[in-house]
Amino acid sequence: MKNHLIPRVLEVRAPTAPALPLVFDSPHSGTDYPDDFDHLAPVSAVRKAEDTFVDELFQAAPAQGAALLRALFPRSYIDPNRAAGDLDVSMIEGEWTGPLAPSPKSVLGLGLLWSRYPPGLPLYGRKLSVAEVLGRIENYHRPYHDTLRRALDHAHARFGVVWHIDCHSMPALSNEMAAEGPGISRPDFTLGDRDGTTCAAEFTAAVRAALTAQGYRVSVNDPYKGAELVRAWSAPRDGRHSLQIEINRRLYMNEKTFEKTQGFEKLQANLTRLIETLAIFARDRVR
Ligand SMILES: [Zn+2]
Repeated sequence: MKNHLIPRVLEVRAPTAPALPLVFDSPHSGTDYPDDFDHLAPVSAVRKAEDTFVDELFQAAPAQGAALLRALFPRSYIDPNRAAGDLDVSMIEGEWTGPLAPSPKSVLGLGLLWSRYPPGLPLYGRKLSVAEVLGRIENYHRPYHDTLRRALDHAHARFGVVWHIDCHSMPALSNEMAAEGPGISRPDFTLGDRDGTTCAAEFTAAVRAALTAQGYRVSVNDPYKGAELVRAWSAPRDGRHSLQIEINRRLYMNEKTFEKTQGFEKLQANLTRLIETLAIFARDRVR
């Protein structure tokens, strides 16, 4: 695994310490807004879709022997954490002949391409062309998944096992488009293993124990179970373990101004300790 950059799309940072079968990815922290996005919604509303600074929170991963992949494009442009066919075709002009398997997220307007943003207003003042949608899939979604899969395959080929942490953040309070309605306070962290199907229980337990020991309130599979990135490439029985981690934004940023708060450094230091703990977890199991 080498350092790798696709400008405006993604960056991989290879381990700078002896490599371990650990891969972190941050799919929603990108802030490089493509010139052809052409959305109707105000920038301040569109930016709320970002998991701002999550890549920075995990920047110590390579120094602990882990690979770190981060998206540079914003999630509101195309969401790597959805399947390529998770589309609402009513937002596309012309006949769509590409992949199509809409989930309830697409019905909500929060599929591969968002059609709405909270509290449910239209993201675009136009339809998207077929070429535009195919271009976003080919140039952003596909390279992201291909790069993640290669990083996981690389580690798995060498060690026979790989642990993948898919890193996100969540608003302090649920919004109007959340299944449970607006205004619900979120825990400090939510871990998602899709009800125990994307990794061994001991991995979820290890992350939960490490965060709980730091004094955080941690929930599992509630309100987030994990989505496409932990589903797509995991196979726990084959030694491929993926876990989603959601960090409460109130721990590190002002959600209105998109600025780091005083809590950022402490959280980053605590996550560096989490990465160290997971490096030991991995080392103990590949010896
Ligand atoms: Zn996210």
